[in-house]
This record gives sequence, C-alpha cells and structure tokens, in this order.
Amino acid sequence: MNAYEIIYRKREGKELSPEEVSFIIEGYLEGRIPDYQVSAFLMAVFFRGMGEEELAGLTRVMLNSGEQVDLGDMPGPTVDKHSTGGVGDGVSLTLAALAASLGAVVPMMSGRGLGHTGGTLDKLESIPGYRVNLSSGEFIKVLRKTGAAIIGQTDKIAPADRKLYALRDVTATVDSIPLITASIMSKKLAEGASSLVLDVKTGTGAFMKSIGDARKLAGSMIATGRAHGRNISAVISDMNRPLGEAVGNAIEVEEAVELMSGGGVQDIRELIICLAGEMLCLSGIEKTPETARSKARENLSNGKALEKFGEMVEAQGGDRRICEDPKDILPQPAMVAEVEAPETGWITAMDTRRIGVCALSLGAGRKSVDDRIDYSAGIRVLKKTGDKVSRGEVIAILYTSSLEDLLPVKSDYLSTLNISGDEPEAQEIIHEVIR
Ligand code: URA
Repeated sequence: MNAYEIIYRKREGKELSPEEVSFIIEGYLEGRIPDYQVSAFLMAVFFRGMGEEELAGLTRVMLNSGEQVDLGDMPGPTVDKHSTGGVGDGVSLTLAALAASLGAVVPMMSGRGLGHTGGTLDKLESIPGYRVNLSSGEFIKVLRKTGAAIIGQTDKIAPADRKLYALRDVTATVDSIPLITASIMSKKLAEGASSLVLDVKTGTGAFMKSIGDARKLAGSMIATGRAHGRNISAVISDMNRPLGEAVGNAIEVEEAVELMSGGGVQDIRELIICLAGEMLCLSGIEKTPETARSKARENLSNGKALEKFGEMVEAQGGDRRICEDPKDILPQPAMVAEVEAPETGWITAMDTRRIGVCALSLGAGRKSVDDRIDYSAGIRVLKKTGDKVSRGEVIAILYTSSLEDLLPVKSDYLSTLNISGDEPEAQEIIHEVIR
C-alpha cells in the first residue's frame, strides 16, 4: 500500500477499503505520511464523498486513536445529545438536568465557543466555582451521584480528530459531510454513552444552510452511529433565528433557570422537550415520544429538573444558589442598551450568524482561542422572525462590561434584520425527527 495510490483511487471516485483508510490516518498520526498528502486525501474525500463502509472505517480509526470512556455500572441508561452548533443554543444546560431528573444518565462532554457560535463550557463557567475540567474519576463520580455531568473533552478523546481538524481548517475541507460525520462521531462514540440524540441545525446561523444538507448530515451520522452499535436519532431544528431569547453566557444560564422554573420562550422550550423525549425513548426509559414529552414538560414545571441542575452544579464545584436567584450569583453587565425597531412591519428574516458575531463583539465570545470572555455580555432577542414590530419598539437589549460605545453593535444588529410590510409564513422550530 502507498499513499499516492490511495489518494489516486479516491480522486477517481473509488471506494477505499478500511485498511487503506487506516493506512492514511495512522500514517499521518505516526508522522510517516506528510501533511501535503493527507491534505490531498481530504480534498479528494471532499469532492468524491465516502461510502458507508468507508466512512465507518474512517470513524473507527479516529475513534481508536484515543481512549474510550467506560461508562459501565451506571445507575441508569447512558444517553447524550450533540448539537452541530448555533446561536443562543443553551439547550444542553437544561436538557442534561431534565433527562437525568427522569432517570437517564447524561455524560456530556461539550466544547467552547469559537467564532459566531457559543459553547456550553463557557456558559457553565459563568457560574462561580463551576469546574469543567474534571478527571475521568471525578466525572464518573458526579455521574453516579447526580446522573448528569457536563465537562470539557479531554486530550485523550479522539486525538486524530484534533490533528485532522487543524489541517481541514487550513485546507478548506471542513464542510464535507463525511469528514464532519467522522469528526463528530469519533468523539461521541469515545465518550461512551449507549444512546445519542443529534440536534442538526439548519439555517442562516448553522453550518448546514439548507435542509437538504442537514438531512444528509443527519443520515450520515445516524448510519455511522448504528454501525458502531449505538441507538441514535436526529432532530433537524431551525437556526434561521437565535434560539430562545438569550445569546451569551450568564444570560443563557439565567434563561436555563427560567426554563426549569416552568417559564422561558416557546421555541427553545419546544426543542428541549422534543430532544428530551428522544433521549428517554432511545434509552428505553419511555415507550413513546408523546409520553416522554409529557413527562419532560412536567419536570420542567414541577421543579425536579431545576433540583437536578442544582445537584449537578454543586457536584462540579459551582454555587447552587444559582437556582434560586441567578441574577445575584451571575456576573451582571456594566452597560445596557436597547435596540429599537426603525420602522413598523414584520421581521421577515434574521442573519443569525451575524447576530452571533454581534454577541462576540460585545465580549460574549472569543475571536481567538486565548481571548478572555466577558461572561456578563450578550443579547436579549425580544423580537424574532415572524414577529410584528412597531417603530420605536424595543426589539433587543445589548449587555456588556467590556465595551464603552454600544452604538456600532446596535447598528450592526439592526443590519442583520429584514423588516417588511408583508407578514411572513410562520417558521417551525423543529423541521423533522429522523429515527
Ligand atoms: N464539529 C466537529 O466536532 N467537527 C466538525 O468537523 C464540524 C463540527
């Protein structure tokens, strides 16, 4: 076997054997195959795609490049959720506690925000004392005690993905469905949960702009998960507007507490209930999505999910009083500015990615990995696509402790909106569920 032949065959659209895929990836990790040949291989995959077997082989070799967490001997079935990333997507905070309050064990390894999307770890770190870097032993202990833990991914999980991702990032080969599938699934499989629900976002704030591509990505991840013996399903959800009302870190934790106190806005609530329903059915705790959703609704309102969230926060070193009065515990912004509608009409479109960039400009995210986050920064999105607005009405509120002049962000925010005299069609938050 040699790298040239394998690249050539892939370039010609041939399906590679698992041995050929392993030869390239292992050779790259061991330093026998140089960057330039792996770059050519990635570009060939980008244009030619991969068959199911071939992709399962790629995922397997990436998965086996690191350690796999052993989640045996847990007090319930293990089930995780992964989102492909969006704006205002604080779902994991509520969902982990909610599913655990209904008997699931939820071992979540999450990421940080980079670019326009937020990261669950940054949101949790806005809670004083919360530790995301638990050792494997501590992670297992918290899971056994509370049924939910959200931590950062360790360096030992799928190290091949880190090396390949860095190369994809500089060779324009990130947005390839098989490469995204292998990247996400190798990490999720290594994390050890028996079941996995995928939240595949589509729209102006998502990786997959069209529903067709979101469907293809979901199908590809489901097939790969199944080939590795996991129970897996996917929800395709809308990212043509920010999710919920809050975009930022502390502000999204506050929103999570509101949701677990029976409040919160409709779209994020509906998505959380749908995802919880899928998690409970996949893991065998409930028989039908309808009963599962109804139990999830109940535990959001009766305080059980919030109680579980408090337990998890405390077990990870955070201040549990967050559940009673989040504003007292969370960092508060030094500056607040209201954004008013410039005209009367309906919001017909939002450039969600650019709304994420506005939050970033306020200090809620990082422009590079070393940037410090302003946990108090963010945006409260009061009016979204499909809402009617009147000239002068407050449609969003900006928060920051790191900027002095909010006017440029205000004008950037307004430029992300399209306001027109014609009422748009209502947009569903959940496009479809693929089981
Ligand atoms: N997230 C990942 O972890 N990998 C990708 O390739 C894309 C998004």
